[in-house]
Amino acid sequence: MEATVTILPCAMRRKAEETPATKFTSEIPENSLAREVDLEKIATAVEMILEAVGEDPKRAGLIDTPQRVARLYQELCYSTGVDAASEISCKFQEGTEGLVVIKDIEFTSLCEHHLVPFLGKAHVAYLPGNGVITGLSKIARVVELTARRLQVQERMTEEIADAILKGIEAQGVCVLLEAEHMCMSMRGIKKPGARTITTAFRGVFKEDQQLRSEVLSHLR
Ligand SMILES: [Zn+2]
Repeated sequence: MEATVTILPCAMRRKAEETPATKFTSEIPENSLAREVDLEKIATAVEMILEAVGEDPKRAGLIDTPQRVARLYQELCYSTGVDAASEISCKFQEGTEGLVVIKDIEFTSLCEHHLVPFLGKAHVAYLPGNGVITGLSKIARVVELTARRLQVQERMTEEIADAILKGIEAQGVCVLLEAEHMCMSMRGIKKPGARTITTAFRGVFKEDQQLRSEVLSHLR
């Protein structure tokens, strides 16, 4: 599903109307702040794993696997150490006081406990401070940047909220993530389809219980 964006003309007074929004790329942008990774080191480690599970790393099907996996990890972890707030490079003084809701931003991240993916959707709402908003795609980019590193869902949720709060000095930010964790689906208790939901609140949504309930009703 594509991400949808809702801008409520008056903060939380009207029911959200959802409209199609921008898609974002999951590839490494050319001008990104991507840090260098040691591809050779990853490839060597992968070769060791292949040997350790009893495989022959030199057989035809596996001969390029270490290099391929190295490039995969480069892509999955390209935003390690990057400040996601720096992605909010464009800001607009619009004088708006309405709540901005962006729903269904798809993401794929990597569980730092098992190095297998967890994937799902991020739903983000913010209440602008001093009428300052940012490009809607920037919010999707913040989600993307926080996903492309070793993560736990709880921390990723907090990082998105902090980046938006810092990036545009919003009055309040609410983030809700729902995701399926492959480490729960394919191993351990093997419960495919189980979803984990996490939330983070900043500013007015942290302080005001009623505002928090209202914003959550838009995100769920
Ligand atoms: Zn895990």
